[in-house]
Amino acid sequence: MERTYIKDLESKKGGEAVIKAWVDVRRDQGKLIFLDFRDMTGYVQGVVLPKSPAMETASRVRPEWVVEVHGKVNPRPEKNVQKDKQNGSIELEILSITVLNEAQTPPIDVRGDGREIGEESRLTHRYLDLRRPRMQKNIRNRNKVMLLTRKILERAGFCEIETPNLTIATAEGSRDFIIPSRLEKGKFYALPQAPQQFKQLLMAAGFERYFQFARCFRDEDSRGDRQPEFTQMDLEMSFATEEDVMNLNEKALIEIVQTLYPHKKIQEIPFPRIPYKVAMEKYNSDKPDIRTDKNDPDLLAFAWIVDFPMFEKTDEGAWTFTHNPFSGTKPESMGDLMAKTNIDKIVAAQYDITLNGNEIGGGSIRNHRPEALRKVLEIMGFSEEKIEREYGHMLRAFESGTPPHGGIAWGLDRLMTILENEQSIREVIAFAKTGEGRDLMMKAPSDVSAEQLLELGISVKKPLK
Ligand code: ASP
Repeated sequence: MERTYIKDLESKKGGEAVIKAWVDVRRDQGKLIFLDFRDMTGYVQGVVLPKSPAMETASRVRPEWVVEVHGKVNPRPEKNVQKDKQNGSIELEILSITVLNEAQTPPIDVRGDGREIGEESRLTHRYLDLRRPRMQKNIRNRNKVMLLTRKILERAGFCEIETPNLTIATAEGSRDFIIPSRLEKGKFYALPQAPQQFKQLLMAAGFERYFQFARCFRDEDSRGDRQPEFTQMDLEMSFATEEDVMNLNEKALIEIVQTLYPHKKIQEIPFPRIPYKVAMEKYNSDKPDIRTDKNDPDLLAFAWIVDFPMFEKTDEGAWTFTHNPFSGTKPESMGDLMAKTNIDKIVAAQYDITLNGNEIGGGSIRNHRPEALRKVLEIMGFSEEKIEREYGHMLRAFESGTPPHGGIAWGLDRLMTILENEQSIREVIAFAKTGEGRDLMMKAPSDVSAEQLLELGISVKKPLK
C-alpha cells in the first residue's frame, strides 16, 4: 500500500492506510498501547488493541524510532473527538509495525520548545534539536519567506544570479575569512563579506535587476548575536533612485508580513523615514525602537533611516566610510565630494531599514561614475597604486557604460528572528554556530593534517596535535 502522509489520514476515515513516521510518544496502558506518530506533515494518535499481532513490536518501540505502520483509520467515538487537534476525529488502529530504524534514548528532549536545554547540547545534537516543533516551524517558515520573496522579485523582473564565494577581500568593514590556494602557494582567496562588487558588476553587465540569497562571511570577534556566516537577501537595480529601492523593498516586506504573518500588525504604512540626525537626537540610536507598545509581540514597527554621513573618522584620525565605500552621495553633496571639502558634512545616498530596534537591512545608491568613486577612495587616503590594485576592475567597469544603480541587502536571519518572535538568530538557522563561531556538531574549526598543510605550503605556529 502506498504511503499516506499524516495530514491526509482524515480523508481515509473508515479505510486502511500505511504511514511512515517517527514514534513521538508511547503510553503503555497494560492492555492497550498508545503510540503517537509524527511525520513532516503532522501528528496522529495510534492504538494497539489487545491481541493485535502488532503488540509484540509495539511493546518494544520507543520514542524517536522510525517505523512503517499499517492500520485502520477509525473514527473516534464522539466523546473522544478533539476538534482543535490535527486528526482529532480519528485514531489509527495499528495492525502491523515495521521498524525502519531504532533510536537510542535521545540525549536531549525533542518534544518541548527546548528553551530549558543548554544551547551547547542543542547545537551538538542539532539534528535532534531540529525535530522539535518550534524549530521545524522556524525553518519551514524561513523557507516560506524565501519562496515568497523570490516570487515577488521575479514578478518585478529580477533575476537570481549566484556570485562566487572564492574571491578577494570585499571591503565591507569587517575582517575576511581567507582560504589558501593550493595551486598558487602563498596566495589566498577571501570569502565575500557581501556580494557588493559582483552585484554592481552585474549592473555593468546589463542585468538591470539582480537578487540573490547570498551567504556572507565576516570574521568578527564574538560580539552580540552574530554568526560568522549569515544570509542576506541581496539585490541591486539599475536606473533606480533611493525612493525606487525603498518603495520596492517596503512593498515586498508588507506583502511578506500580510501573507505569511497575517496576525501581525505593521505599526505605520508607509514606513516612516527618519533622517540619521533626527534618530540620533531623538532616540540616541541609528536603529531606534519606535514601537508604541513594546510588550505587544505582534507589533512590527519598520522604519527607514536615511541621510547618513558618508564618512567618519577612524581611531587613527583618518576618514573611512560609514557603510560602504561604494555608496554614492546625495546630489547636493556631490560638489563637496568632488572638491574633497566639508567631508564631515557629505551625506550618503544610504538607507537602512530597521524593525523593532534592529537593523534588518541597508543599502544605497552607488557612485557609478568612476571619478566619484575615485574621490571616495582618495578621501580615505588610498594611494593611486592601492586604488588601481584593489578597485581597478570597478573603475574600468564604470568607464564602460554602467548605468546609475543602487540596491540593498536584508539580513534574512535577523528578519526571521523577529518575525518568529525569537531571541536569537541561532533559532532560525538550521545549523547555527555558537556565539564564538564554533560548530559543535561538526567540530569546526578543526585541525588539519600535516600533509594538507604541506600541500598548501602553510606552517602553523601553534603546535599541531
Ligand atoms: N553590501 C551591503 C551590506 O552588506 C548592502 C548594500 O549596500 O547593498 O551591508
